[in-house]
Amino acid sequence: MKIPANFDWPAGLREFKQSDTERYVFETMDTATQCAAECGRPLLQTDSKAITVDVFTNEPVQDGVIPVRRFKPYVTHATCKGSELTVRRDPGLAIPAEKDVTWVSATMIVGGTEKIPIVVYRIAGSDQISTAFGERVDVQAEVMLGAGFALITDAEMWSLLTVVGEHGPTEQAYARWADARHLQLVVIHDSEEDVVVSVDIDDDMFREAAAAIGEVLWVTGTGVELDIDNGTFVLERAAARGTLLAATTPIR
Ligand SMILES: [Zn+2]
Repeated sequence: MKIPANFDWPAGLREFKQSDTERYVFETMDTATQCAAECGRPLLQTDSKAITVDVFTNEPVQDGVIPVRRFKPYVTHATCKGSELTVRRDPGLAIPAEKDVTWVSATMIVGGTEKIPIVVYRIAGSDQISTAFGERVDVQAEVMLGAGFALITDAEMWSLLTVVGEHGPTEQAYARWADARHLQLVVIHDSEEDVVVSVDIDDDMFREAAAAIGEVLWVTGTGVELDIDNGTFVLERAAARGTLLAATTPIR
């Protein structure tokens, strides 16, 4: 990916973004619409722009441990502020807690009769990119792949259902009702259990479908777009980025 000549960016970013640097710089700068400096004026396509990136990381980490990296970008007019990279090191930096979750729940009718309860969720900050051995690794994705989620490359729902169906329900995760309204996704690893997300379900059709089928379909990934007000979701971007994940879990 070629970064336009009017985009000024800090070369030191490559140390943290590695092979994802160009895509990140381009997407972040190309989609910015307003100067993050005091001027606050619109950023036009032809303006000379600059990006400042604050990197938060728990590095240095021991050999074999995948570092956590969080990126906070600011795009400005190049005349308002030049490009800059700041690095803040915090050994306690960890994956965000479940409170940062947004979700949409729905009931899909498949084959005219079968109702499938589905939760599409996104964890804020889960696009922290860790790079180990030059690879792009999404921390959340790594956890969920370990929990038996399947990587979905085609956002079409029938295709997603086919992949999930072939995979079968995962044994490393399950859903449970914490109370009448709160459904949790629990991941099991090394005989320890983690509540990954907890969602509030105010929907009788969902509850009835879940009770009838005994399973819930979970869909997540960096780039999943959710419209909370309308209860809709768009998966194309996440699928294109290779971060779309899905699994059915039994309800216990
Ligand atoms: Zn400006």
